[in-house]
Amino acid sequence: MIPDHELLALKERNPVHEIAGRWVKLRRNGRKGYIGPCPMCSENPQGRSATKFECNSVKWVCAGQCQDGGDVIKLVQKREGVDFRAAIERLGGVRDEKPTPALARMAGLRAYQAGEPLGEVPAPFGDDPDLRMAWVRGWGDGRKRADYEVFARERERKRLYDFWQAGSRWQGSSVEDYLACRGVLAPENARLRFHPDMPLFADGREHEPLLVHRGPAMLAPFLDAAGVFRGLHITWIDTSAERCKAIVHHPETGEVLPAKKMRGTKAGCYIDLGTSDGLKGQRVPHPRVIVGEGIETVLAVYTALLRAGRDMSRTTLRAAGDLGNLAGRALETVPHPTLKTAAGRAQRVPGPDPDPQSPAMPVPDHVAELILLGDGDSEPFLTRNALERASRRHARAGRTIRVRFAPDGLDYNDALQGKSK
Ligand SMILES: [Zn+2]
Repeated sequence: MIPDHELLALKERNPVHEIAGRWVKLRRNGRKGYIGPCPMCSENPQGRSATKFECNSVKWVCAGQCQDGGDVIKLVQKREGVDFRAAIERLGGVRDEKPTPALARMAGLRAYQAGEPLGEVPAPFGDDPDLRMAWVRGWGDGRKRADYEVFARERERKRLYDFWQAGSRWQGSSVEDYLACRGVLAPENARLRFHPDMPLFADGREHEPLLVHRGPAMLAPFLDAAGVFRGLHITWIDTSAERCKAIVHHPETGEVLPAKKMRGTKAGCYIDLGTSDGLKGQRVPHPRVIVGEGIETVLAVYTALLRAGRDMSRTTLRAAGDLGNLAGRALETVPHPTLKTAAGRAQRVPGPDPDPQSPAMPVPDHVAELILLGDGDSEPFLTRNALERASRRHARAGRTIRVRFAPDGLDYNDALQGKSK
């Protein structure tokens, strides 16, 4: 057994962003730390617009194929395909050392973050008065930081809500043109709005953020299980451009930035795309719910079913924002059948068993039929695991769950428009 304070000292000597920075090009991400390509699953380690991997000095998370996160030891384990002990050795190994006040303070902070109470100060810090005091200070640092995070989250929510309130009806606006351009229909009561002058920032920096674009946008709120506004899905529109999305270049690097952004809280929330019989004002979810990752995925399927003459009454449409929020986290990882790590071992990816503690898009209890849509343009093994996870997570007595995939290699929107690969 390695003493906790020696492990902590090892982690302090090896900040996550420095270790990850040996493999990929990371950029500053304001107060949150660093962002960039993932050392495990990104094809281009120098990609300057990659945003799937986020980290700070103590932890990392990948929203790409890994759908995983952890500390620096886990990062080395995943990247190099080695076990816990070997990862420690690759980070220079632990040393036989005495606990210091700086370590005690860090341990206190992490104890707060782990939900431990301000009770007995644990060994080896508990016996020495200076170390005890440092540990208690660290615990207080953790609480201050958490308070600030709650404050910052509320401030962002307020900002986003103001944008939403300033938006107008999507019918008759360029949102309607955009949807037409993408070949999809939306129910009358899809919860979308048009904003004529929505700002797009290059990063999440709190002070003097870099404004890269302003223009017309489609807004869709993220709502939690109680229907409370938590965040905003934003798509910048240019109906004269290909695919009708605004083409935005980073002013410093010249790279093309995504014309879509999700701000605020997405985890545990959903986007309300309406009820297909267009009952205005009626927000009671119908017994059948169709859910997919993106807004256009769900609307493409809705449009195809309508055109095929299917009965779409009593059907509610929802989007999760991304695959991670559609399925929630996995309890454990499984080896990928073909993908290999840099060290030549099987890449481990999130498995089919859901972690019920992790947040994911909510499904109301009374839903009798749940249809989960998988896009065909994502990695198939990962997508299948994610949809299996969502199926198991939402399984109830008396509920039917169906999983539907778009044709091979296509997303639903391309399939609807008769494109092929
Ligand atoms: Zn990754």
